[in-house]
Amino acid sequence: MTGLRGTELSLVSLQRLHAVVLFGSPGSGKGTQAKRLTQALGIPHISTGDMLRDRIRSGTEKVSAVVANMQSGALVADDVMNAIVQKRLSEADAARGFILDGYPRTLEQAEHLGMWLQRKRISEVVIHLAVDYNVIIARLTGRRVCPLCGTLYNTVSQPAKVDGLCDRDGGKLLMRDDDRESVIRERLEAYEKQTRPVLEYFKASGHRVEEVDASQAPPDYVFKEIFQLIEPDDRPGIHG
Ligand code: ADP
Repeated sequence: MTGLRGTELSLVSLQRLHAVVLFGSPGSGKGTQAKRLTQALGIPHISTGDMLRDRIRSGTEKVSAVVANMQSGALVADDVMNAIVQKRLSEADAARGFILDGYPRTLEQAEHLGMWLQRKRISEVVIHLAVDYNVIIARLTGRRVCPLCGTLYNTVSQPAKVDGLCDRDGGKLLMRDDDRESVIRERLEAYEKQTRPVLEYFKASGHRVEEVDASQAPPDYVFKEIFQLIEPDDRPGIHG
């Protein structure tokens, strides 16, 4: 191994580094909770879904297989995902910690991440957001996002003040292409087949895995529970 660079050194030496893996099926609320955690802890929210969508929008991602897989609800290849995430985790703003949302999603990704964290001597906490599938379908078909600031809404549980417009900047709210019901079923199937085993892998290999019931509770309640697990001595309210 070559010598440690600045970012890597600070990663190793920091005592309170928050490496959080938010784990759960599509629609379990990972994105919503990750955004809150990012604000409370001041560390980046690394969403592989958002990164892929940004890359497609900006034209960085031209590989047609990546685009096709995303549109059909199938998973993007492991080597593509591992390279994207490893690069992102090595950026300076992730040196104090990070919140991973949507990665790892396969055993190969989990092993890749596990080796990277071990090399950096980082111990992560895996938060599993457990949710009933009926709740998930209802949530995803009602989900809307502001294309300007990324704020998430739900037509049932978290509606915008003015129907169809973002409360913050008036952006016209959009439904994601892959939130149509047929694609949702494909995504849930991919989760069951390829991603759920990752949770068993984390547990069996001695990683810290915490279960949070994210089915009925409002997002605020779920957030408090997650925050308590990550920062047992602290209260989320004081961070805003
Ligand atoms: P959700 O968790 O709601 O399914 P995401 O925004 O996390 O949505 O992901 C959207 C799509 O992006 C996935 O269906 C998949 O095609 C692709 N994707 C995101 N993260 C990964 C990953 N870690 N591995 C493979 N594909 C991924």
